[in-house]
Order: sequence, then C-alpha cells, then structure tokens
Amino acid sequence: MNQLGLRRSNFYSECPLDRADNRRQDGDWLSQRLQAPDTRFVPLWRNRNLVDRLEGDPPRSAIFLNGDHYAALADVLEEGAIFLGEDSAKRSYFALDLAKLDLPDHHPVLAGLGHFADLRLFGPMLPQGEGALLAYARGMIYWHRRHRFCGSCGTATASDRGGHLRRCSNQDCGQQHFPRTDPAVIMLVHDGGDRCVLGRQANWPDGMHSTLAGFVEPGESLEEAVAREVEEEVGLKVSEVTYHSSQPWPFPSSLMIGFWARARGEALQVDTSEIESAAWYSRKSLVHSPEDESFRLPRRDSIARRLIEDWLAEAS
Ligand SMILES: [Zn+2]
Repeated sequence: MNQLGLRRSNFYSECPLDRADNRRQDGDWLSQRLQAPDTRFVPLWRNRNLVDRLEGDPPRSAIFLNGDHYAALADVLEEGAIFLGEDSAKRSYFALDLAKLDLPDHHPVLAGLGHFADLRLFGPMLPQGEGALLAYARGMIYWHRRHRFCGSCGTATASDRGGHLRRCSNQDCGQQHFPRTDPAVIMLVHDGGDRCVLGRQANWPDGMHSTLAGFVEPGESLEEAVAREVEEEVGLKVSEVTYHSSQPWPFPSSLMIGFWARARGEALQVDTSEIESAAWYSRKSLVHSPEDESFRLPRRDSIARRLIEDWLAEAS
C-alpha cells in the first residue's frame, strides 16, 4: 500500500512536487524564484518534453534547464514561466512553452542538451516521479495554449497566479479561467467469475485489446457514466460499479477514473461505430496473452492495464 492506501499508484501520478498553491499569488516570491540558481525549468515544445534520448535508445531521464538557459530563451517564450511547485530540497520548478521555435534541437541554447519527444512514446521508461512531473507540465502548457481567449466574451486572456489562472482582459467581463481536466471513466466489466470484456478500436496498435472507456457527460454521476458507456458500446447492463483508482492522463487533458463493474448478462451487442470489436476473455487467456500482433494487453503505463492486472490477481 502506498501513502494514499492504493496497492500500487498509477503511472503519471505521484508527482514529487509540493504544488505550493499558497505561493502562486506572491508575485515577488515567484520573481525571486525565477532568478534563483537552483531553480529548474521544464521545457515543452509543441507537446514534446526534453529528455536524454539518444538516437535509437529509449530515454532514461528528463532534462531540466537552469536560470541561464531561461534568461537566454526569454525572447522566444510564449508568455511567462508557469510555476509547478517545489521539490523536497525546496528547489522551484517552472514550465516553459517553447512552441515559437522551429527547430529547438538546433537552437544554440538547447543544442546538445537532449531531444524533444512525445511522453506517450516513452513515459514508462522514466522514473515514475519524472514521468508525473513531465505530464503535469505538458498538461499545463496545453491548457494555456487553448485558453488564450475568453469563452464568455472572446477577448484575449492573460496568465496570472504563476500560470494557474487566466483572466479575461476585458474589464467589463473579467472572467477567471482555471486549469481544467476532463473526467473520463474507464472500466473493466466482469461476470463476477472468471471472465471479463475487452474491446478494441480500429486505430489501436495491432492486436491491442483494452477495457471500455468514455467521457463523463454533464449532469451524470461517474457510476451512471460507467453504466451508460458499457451499454452503448457492448449492450450490457451492469451493477456493482466499484471504484478502483484514477490516473492523470494529459494526452491531451483527461483524468481517467477507473472502475470494475459486474455485467448483468453476457450477450454482447457491439456498437461498431464506437469500437471495432469486443468479446469475453477468461483469466487464463489473459495471463497467457502472447503480447504480439495477434493479441496484446494495453500499454504498461495505462490504468487500463492496471485494472486488468489487479482483476487477474484477485483470483490468485
Ligand atoms: Zn471575457
């Protein structure tokens, strides 16, 4: 059990920073931390994080920038730095949006430091804390880029509170916009015995099968979203909807909320406009998954994999 009572934490959670919400409104303190010699900067370039990937090798660690890099990059930044928090050594971390650069790997300040790459392709290769920190930074930058204008009046917004608020610049409006994340339910449907339902979408890697999932709609509880999505996708009614755990999934902006649910029947009616196929699978067949193009379980960093593995472990 971890500190929060989970058997295992999900990848991209347990970011090692204190988010220090009480510091976000202290402009003087933030300015001071931007100049501090031990401050670390997490650069993002068009949804890609900076890592030590060498050609052909998976990355093993994140690359952070220092205050000298930050000063030298000031004129290419999109807005200011976004305060992420402090680590246990009281070092501050800020995210930087370098989207203006065309070829960041060749920029004189960045050349030779590492490579910008998509976290989704290598997340599980990193230490979990670094994966969580990079995901957090990526999610924040994504939110900023898509909230440049006020949803109420259409006027430009400006970053405030260390990047944790965007305020409409129209004084008659003044709407405050806060970072948001979209709740999605993801559920392993089982029969109360030895079988569970997995499905696949046509655009997934060959052979990959996973749990069902879908976005929560307005006016709907999480349990209702689970029941609705399962019925829509495979035609099953469910009961015993039980919370499992959750996972930040900023690809681009979701929070995955995981459940187990028991089917009240077994005949599947697959809606092929939503998923390509779905079927019942026994524990034995999943334990012996060939993990190849004929059949494979979802990626190791996903809560879907965790939902399946923990359900398999229930029987042992
Ligand atoms: Zn406005």
